Amino acid sequence: MDAGLDRETLNLVLDTIRDFADHELPDAYLLELDAKDEFPEPIVRRMLAELGVSLLFIPEKYGGMGAGTFDIYRVCELLARIDVGVATGVFATFLGSDPIVFGGTDEQKERWMTRIAEEGLLMAYGATEPEAGSDLGALKTTAKPVLDDGNVVGYVINGNKQWISNGGYADLYTILANAPGGPTWFVVDRDVEGFEKGKPEDKHGIRASNTAALAFSDVRVDADRIVGEREGLGLTQAQAVFGYTRLMVAAFGLGAGWAALDRAIAYSLERIQGGSPLAEKQGYTHKLIVPHAVRLEAARACIEETAVRIDNGDGQLNTEGAIAKYMGSEAGNAAADAAIQAHGGYGYTKEYMVEKITRDVRITTIYEGTSEIMEMTIARDRWQEHLKSRGAYYHDQAAALEALAQRMPTVGADTAALAHHALAEVMETARVHRLTRSQHVLFRLGDIIATVESAAALARRAASALDDILPPKADHRFTADALAAASRVFAREAAARVAAEGVGLVIGAAAPGTVDVGALQASIRLETMEQAQGGLLDDMDLVADALYQRTSA
Ligand SMILES: Cc1cc2nc3c(=O)[nH]c(=O)nc-3n(C[C@H](O)[C@H](O)[C@H](O)COP(=O)(O)OP(=O)(O)OC[C@H]3O[C@@H](n4cnc5c(N)ncnc54)[C@H](O)[C@@H]3O)c2cc1C
Repeated sequence: MDAGLDRETLNLVLDTIRDFADHELPDAYLLELDAKDEFPEPIVRRMLAELGVSLLFIPEKYGGMGAGTFDIYRVCELLARIDVGVATGVFATFLGSDPIVFGGTDEQKERWMTRIAEEGLLMAYGATEPEAGSDLGALKTTAKPVLDDGNVVGYVINGNKQWISNGGYADLYTILANAPGGPTWFVVDRDVEGFEKGKPEDKHGIRASNTAALAFSDVRVDADRIVGEREGLGLTQAQAVFGYTRLMVAAFGLGAGWAALDRAIAYSLERIQGGSPLAEKQGYTHKLIVPHAVRLEAARACIEETAVRIDNGDGQLNTEGAIAKYMGSEAGNAAADAAIQAHGGYGYTKEYMVEKITRDVRITTIYEGTSEIMEMTIARDRWQEHLKSRGAYYHDQAAALEALAQRMPTVGADTAALAHHALAEVMETARVHRLTRSQHVLFRLGDIIATVESAAALARRAASALDDILPPKADHRFTADALAAASRVFAREAAARVAAEGVGLVIGAAAPGTVDVGALQASIRLETMEQAQGGLLDDMDLVADALYQRTSA
């Protein structure tokens, strides 16, 4: 992997951000920002300009550092670990410049990216509207051409945007509007006439980020403000970066989830109940800590694998990005919620940070595409693969995992393979009974597919760790043996979910009595799948030992 920063530079960037946060963003200040519902504009601007975080996503050619996807994932995870609200202020700048980075002409990139690099501009990305959220195609903001002598010399923008991060503070906005040729991105300055910013939204979480509605009333922009200098490219340009931007939000889920879980781990070492620390109680650790650590690492495996592939030029990977976002954000939410429980009554108070983290991380299943839209994206894409391959898609993936299991028997690849075979059979049953016409079936399949594919990603990651060939910039929190134990735990979870939920789903959706349950159970090798649960408790013990650094696991 040669895209982006070298390992030393990335580590330097991460250390600089950590040091800055230690000094400028202590817990007490973050709690104060949350309580006052205040956007720390000077801090976010300093992070962008002084620390040079802006430079990361700007190509070297335009004075930036040209970080790759893997670098951005590591930075986003760290930012979210510090505070998802502050991270959102930074992220909105990344996002705001994305249409230019990916869709601008060379001249536009030169013009805007150089300014963003030199001035550390705060940016905002204006896609969502009051009535166009998940369905961006329904956007109503218009851009009407202004003609001079038959030539288009500018546009007049009218309409409203909703929920725009940095909306009240940005220097530069990228705004999606309907031109005669279709949805189009425009670069809009903050002070143009007719452009109004709404009051900050009073939000459930990420209260340290600014979110505002925008109103455009006869806002005039020059024709060269069209990103890509052609109308109608807007949705394609937005789609082109989903694989990448969704990884960023996936990394937010990961960072915030781990931030909460690490606090719970530390708390459980100190808190004595029934004569011993909570950390020594299996009923506590194996419910509130271990499964969440394992799910977060499954999400990390998807994120890292997808980031490497994007950096290697392996396409946009929108579906893989969707899987990573779905897994990272859902795992982050579940981990934060468990961290409140793990703190008991203290967790329910503002003082203990996990309460704030839980409200903050909640946004990750909503923005950049909701979890339900992710389920739809994942299921639709993989359903096509199932049909195109005549049902072989997941059997083929299973075969690759079986080969991995042969070579590397300890990473749970055999169980992950069983889950893939079973998924293929569940999908085939859905095809035969025409069940995906029901949206519920399709979406639940999306959820199960994401889990099963993550089991494969984690098994591969654990194998790479054992082979000592993890990407040089990868996270190295766990030893290879601990990662293998985590992978075995997660593979069993994936297998159990297909066997129970997947089978239940298709039986529940088909006309009563029409699915041959015995044949389906045989085809998924139900007994073998159940036997694969053997050893689960021992592996959970190993993961707990690794988390609490109790043995050499
Ligand atoms: C704090 C915050 C910051 C944000 N920042 C930005 C930003 O900087 N720029 C920007 O452009 N946008 C931003 N957004 C907008 C965000 O991306 C949208 O809120 C999100 O995409 C969902 O759109 P919506 O709110 O209109 O919900 P809707 O699309 O109305 O969804 C409501 C519910 O219905 C479900 N749903 C939607 N469609 C379907 C369907 N076809 N089938 C089944 N279920 C469906 C959704 O999953 C959800 O549960 C931000 C939002 C928030 C809250």
